[in-house]
Amino acid sequence: MRDGLKYKVLLWDIDGTILNFKAAEKEAIRMGFRNYHLGECTDEMIARYSVINDRYWREMELGRTTKEALLIDRFMEFFEKEGIRITRDTVVSFNDDYQLDLGETIVFNDGADELLRDLKGKVLQYAVTNGNKVTQEKKFARSGLLKILDGAFISEEVGAEKPRPEFFEAVFRALPEFKKEEFLVIGDSLTADMLGANNAHLACCWYNPKERAGMEELRIDYEIRSLREIPGIIGEGN
Ligand SMILES: [Mg+2]
Repeated sequence: MRDGLKYKVLLWDIDGTILNFKAAEKEAIRMGFRNYHLGECTDEMIARYSVINDRYWREMELGRTTKEALLIDRFMEFFEKEGIRITRDTVVSFNDDYQLDLGETIVFNDGADELLRDLKGKVLQYAVTNGNKVTQEKKFARSGLLKILDGAFISEEVGAEKPRPEFFEAVFRALPEFKKEEFLVIGDSLTADMLGANNAHLACCWYNPKERAGMEELRIDYEIRSLREIPGIIGEGN
């Protein structure tokens, strides 16, 4: 590792940060519609699905539902609102296929693969993700992230989701040689990544390419429009 850097361990969120989750999500849902003969799936339908899905994930972050339930409930509500008749059993199978297809589609934000490769060996880099284990592991393998990253913390394996302190406690337990001030959490979600870093007393960097409004009660140490700003923040390339 390189001396003199401000942070020694980067904790990267994956979906919406390193990877363009929206592009992958769209493709995977379209594949589901084709395979289950559900008719056409327009951009407008996917936009409406996205609103429903985001709401379920926020509910889970607030402890009001579980991941197992939300994976099915989000599609049940979506199909119902779109007037598509489908049984719960079929939705369970639709969701299983969707998870796998989601892992197949890889789109990087801001040339993140190159950036991570450049930082390899200078700092340690771990994925910190709330995604499903099957989907995420497949995604790591297919994207090449498996070889670039030093490891991954997936909520399903950890047994707690971001922003819960238990999630980050698992990270500290795995990396006992580092002090809290040597970690930097980088992510696009205020309610999972930034709140998680606040709860765990870690420095955080909000990836906010679309210039969304922040949340007053949260401490945001850095806010960036592009991931290319990261080397400057950690003191690499200055
Ligand atoms: Mg994210």
